[in-house]
Amino acid sequence: MVEDKAIAKLERLLPAGRISTHEVDRVTYSYDATGEKYMPAAVVFPETEGEVTEILAVASEFKIPVIPRGAGTGLSGGSVPVKAGLVVSTERMTQILDIDEEELLAVVEPGVVTGELHRAVEARGLFYPPDPASLDFCTIGGNIAENAGGLRAVKYGVTRDYVRALRFALPEGEVFSAGVRTVKGVVGYDLVTIMVGSEGTLGFITQATLKLLPKPETKITIAAYFASYVSAAKAVAGIIARKILPATLEFIDRQCLMCVKEATGMEFPEDAMALLLIEDDGFEEVVKRSASAIKEALASENALHIQEAGDAAAAEKLWKARRVISPSLAYIAPHKMNEDVTVPRKKLPELIAAVEGIASRYNVRCASFGHAGDGNIHVNFLYDKRNNDEVQRVKEAVKALMEVVVQLGGTISGEHGIGLAKKDYIGIEIGPEGIEIMKRIKNAFDPHGIMNPGKIFPDTLVG
Ligand SMILES: Cc1cc2nc3c(=O)[nH]c(=O)nc-3n(C[C@H](O)[C@H](O)[C@H](O)COP(=O)(O)OP(=O)(O)OC[C@H]3O[C@@H](n4cnc5c(N)ncnc54)[C@H](O)[C@@H]3O)c2cc1C
Repeated sequence: MVEDKAIAKLERLLPAGRISTHEVDRVTYSYDATGEKYMPAAVVFPETEGEVTEILAVASEFKIPVIPRGAGTGLSGGSVPVKAGLVVSTERMTQILDIDEEELLAVVEPGVVTGELHRAVEARGLFYPPDPASLDFCTIGGNIAENAGGLRAVKYGVTRDYVRALRFALPEGEVFSAGVRTVKGVVGYDLVTIMVGSEGTLGFITQATLKLLPKPETKITIAAYFASYVSAAKAVAGIIARKILPATLEFIDRQCLMCVKEATGMEFPEDAMALLLIEDDGFEEVVKRSASAIKEALASENALHIQEAGDAAAAEKLWKARRVISPSLAYIAPHKMNEDVTVPRKKLPELIAAVEGIASRYNVRCASFGHAGDGNIHVNFLYDKRNNDEVQRVKEAVKALMEVVVQLGGTISGEHGIGLAKKDYIGIEIGPEGIEIMKRIKNAFDPHGIMNPGKIFPDTLVG
């Protein structure tokens, strides 16, 4: 088989221990956080950019798929080897190469875990804002490839806003360096922006130069409980309409609160249907003013209870609750379709009402939470794969949700990417013309179609 020949050649070229065809490894790297599972022919563990280019050159020679992989925390099936081939893991490319305190930059290898970068720069009084809830596991390479958002995106933006320059290997094995270390730079096409969010389908990111900020002096955390989902959504829109932009503005519905209670033992008020978790940061005086304006806005939207975390430990307890939501949904049902739809913030009340309507129309179980301050809600339709009827109803509910979101002027994916999970719906948002032009870009980077094939583009068009 052609894959065996490619693997044999790589075994000759790479240092010992870099490639595994062992079944345990192939199973371990066959799935991501979606649970979708396809076996790769082999898993490769390069340690240097030179090794990445060798792997890509061999894959190109034998025309076999290359699937870049960070930590596999992706929620759209991006690192799943749907057409077999080589899963190329960045877990041995984990060096923070430089933290430049004068230029406010960090230079890192792609396998650096996001939370480790946070700790390293914060120890020097600096700050890297993108903070996906998976930050203790996910990698900078995966964040860049998905253009990951996170809890602080409402004030600080997403990964794209912090990538100054990238080195990446193209499928035929050449290395390209794009972007600048300077604050400005407009020479030619912006290849950094094309690579950010490209989901491993254009090239393999081998190094990133990231923008840093000064670390905020202090922060506050506020929890506000509401009697209905819609009133919580109105409060979000109300806060933004009052020209307050907190660092974080998260929505959690009652189903999610119950799962967190089950997972952590934390108690929540009996009458709470929804929780807003809000954080702001900055200079002490500014944060105090912001906190009182936020509390005023919450009260005017009829919050049932408003609590400010008394100290760092109390705040961390609340944020820990937020981070365990996604895995704790397994208490309701074994499987979930996790959508990360995003609408203009003023349309949030309409989105939340529409989700309730869709769940009841299709008789599906649903739990929602997410980055409400960005208009980005993670709508989870919960089901059991063994129940065919329920699976069908969930699929119909997902399509109905996508259509509503686009009608509301939103997008079908705010931060998780298209990957496998949403490729059948991409046409609803960008139409056949959008797909066609993106395919042309893909062909220019990857003429043989070996980079992460089977992702982003639909097999057939929906919508
Ligand atoms: C509990 C939980 C909470 C989450 N919370 C958030 C959140 O708040 N915000 C958010 O945006 N996401 C969130 N996610 C999703 C996920 O963590 C992000 O998409 C993350 O960026 C994926 O990083 P990873 O290292 O796990 O990448 P993987 O899942 O391994 O890969 C993701 C994609 O990146 C590509 N890729 C990886 N490395 C490279 C590279 N070096 N070069 C080119 N392509 C590469 C892969 O091919 C794949 O397409 C969450 C996931 C979980 C499980």
